[in-house]
Amino acid sequence: MILGKLFKKSKIKKVLKFGFIFFGVNVFIFCLAFYRNDSQRFMPDEYKLVQKIFNKISLNNDLGDRPISISIRAGDYMYWKMRNLGIGICEDEKNYCSYYVNLNPFRRFMGFRSADVNNAIRQSYLYGTAGARANPAGFIAIDRSTFRVLEGNEAYIASIIAHEIYHILNFSDFKASLETLKIRLKDKSKSEKELQDIFFNKFQLSEVEADMGGALMIYNSGYPKDTFYKAIDFVYKQAGIIHAESQAKNHPDFIKRMKLIKAFMNDESFKKEKIKNNSAPLTWVYNRNGNWLRFYPNKK
Ligand SMILES: [Zn+2]
Repeated sequence: MILGKLFKKSKIKKVLKFGFIFFGVNVFIFCLAFYRNDSQRFMPDEYKLVQKIFNKISLNNDLGDRPISISIRAGDYMYWKMRNLGIGICEDEKNYCSYYVNLNPFRRFMGFRSADVNNAIRQSYLYGTAGARANPAGFIAIDRSTFRVLEGNEAYIASIIAHEIYHILNFSDFKASLETLKIRLKDKSKSEKELQDIFFNKFQLSEVEADMGGALMIYNSGYPKDTFYKAIDFVYKQAGIIHAESQAKNHPDFIKRMKLIKAFMNDESFKKEKIKNNSAPLTWVYNRNGNWLRFYPNKK
C-alpha cells in the first residue's frame, strides 16, 4: 500500500514537472516569435542594408516630415514567370500582375498553386534585375533581385533608393497630373490621347528632377561625386535591352537621360552642402509578418 502510494506520488510529481517544463518552453517560443517579428536584429540582411543606407543619407539630407515604409518584394520578374505557367495568372494585358510581383520573398507562399508560386519567387531572385518603385503615399518597394545584382555595391543601391525617395518627397505623379489638368481645363478640345501624351511628357520631366535630386542627395551623403551617374548607367546595362520605345515612356531614353544627369553634375550648382535640417537620427520600426521596415524622420 505504502509503496503504491509513493509510486503514485512520484508519478504525479513527474507529470507536474514535465507539464511545467512543457508550459515554460511554449511560453518561451511564443515570446521569441513575438520578439522575432519586431526585432531589427533578426531582419533579413537586405533590410539591414536598406536601414544602413537610409541612416547614412539622413545625416546630411532632409527626408521630409512623413514616415516612409520600405518593402522588399518578389519583384517585377514574377510577371513573366507567372505568365509562363499558362494558368491564367498575369495573362491579362490590362491588369498588371502586382499581387504576385509584391509577394513577400522571405516567406513561403501558401495560397493557390503554392509550389509554382514559390518556384517563381526563387527564380525571380535569380533571374531578376535591379529595380525599385515609389508610391507617393510614402512607400518604396525594392525587388529582392536588386540585392543579388548589386551585391557588395552599397553606393549603387543607395542611388536607386535616393531617386525613389525624391519622388515621394516631391509628389512627382501629382505634380505632373496637376499640370495636365490645367492644360485640359484651358483647352477643352484636347483629346484623351493628347492629354495622355502631355502627362507622360510632364512625368518624364519629373523623372529628370528625381535624377537630379537623387544625385545631389547621394553626393551630400558622402558618396563619391559621380556615384549616381555610374549607378544609373549600370542599371541600364544590367537590364540589357534599352532601345524599345515603350521603355522611354516613363523615363527619357537612356542617351538623353545620361546626358541630362551629366550636364547637371557638371553644373556649378552641383555641390556638396551641409544641410541644417537633416533628418537624423531616424526612428525605425520593423514588421516581419507584414514584410516592411519603416522610418520616422527626426523633425528639427
Ligand atoms: Zn523614377
